Amino acid sequence: MHYPHQLESLVKPPLQIGLTGGIGSGKTTVCKIFEQIGIPIYYADDRAKQLMVEDGRIIKQIIELFGQDAYLQAGGLNRAFIAGIVFNDPKKLQALNSIVHPAVGKDGTEWHHQQIGVPYTIREAALMIESGNYKAMDKLIVVSAPKQLRIERVMKRDNVNEVAVLARMNQQLAEEEKMKFADFRIINDWRASLIKQVWKIHQQLVFEWTDN
Ligand code: ATP
Repeated sequence: MHYPHQLESLVKPPLQIGLTGGIGSGKTTVCKIFEQIGIPIYYADDRAKQLMVEDGRIIKQIIELFGQDAYLQAGGLNRAFIAGIVFNDPKKLQALNSIVHPAVGKDGTEWHHQQIGVPYTIREAALMIESGNYKAMDKLIVVSAPKQLRIERVMKRDNVNEVAVLARMNQQLAEEEKMKFADFRIINDWRASLIKQVWKIHQQLVFEWTDN
């Protein structure tokens, strides 16, 4: 539908864009650039952590799955306890994901509908493809970087060793697989300019939104 130009950004709903990529690919770094352009960003992993300690329904389900020890006395999530269980038990990890991912998916969609006056919003999530939440997006951006560079970046950022990074990496879909779902790709290696790539995608998305 076409609206008078001055009303367009106020009444036209923004596109819903997903952004994903493997651990250490640079998702957050890329989102900071989009943020500078004025695009609202929903950081799904941060929001998931928040919902796990604030949302009564999620808390109840997590206690049913792991017992009372899943939460600390002060109300925080007992991450070490839960990590210790799910690391050795893929079924429990799957059960935890099936509590958290749909809840964050729904919360992200509600957040998106509250954003007005912008051409698009971005939802950033490490496991967006694995969770199936990518299906609710209009377009998907996948950030990629060479494996060795991702390992080095995360080792430096989190002060952890290579084994720890590889353990997290192995729980995610391989980068080549993620790429098959991409409408836009951002290469974050030593050479390519992130700002130029972000700007190009931004222009394409604005065009798409205006044209719709
Ligand atoms: P995770 O999945 O673990 O949340 P991520 O995909 O969000 O990771 P970032 O946190 O953005 O990745 O990047 C990983 C680390 O690499 C950060 O310390 C970041 O500052 C650094 N980094 C990312 N991109 C670049 C770059 N182009 N040049 C230099 N450092 C970079």
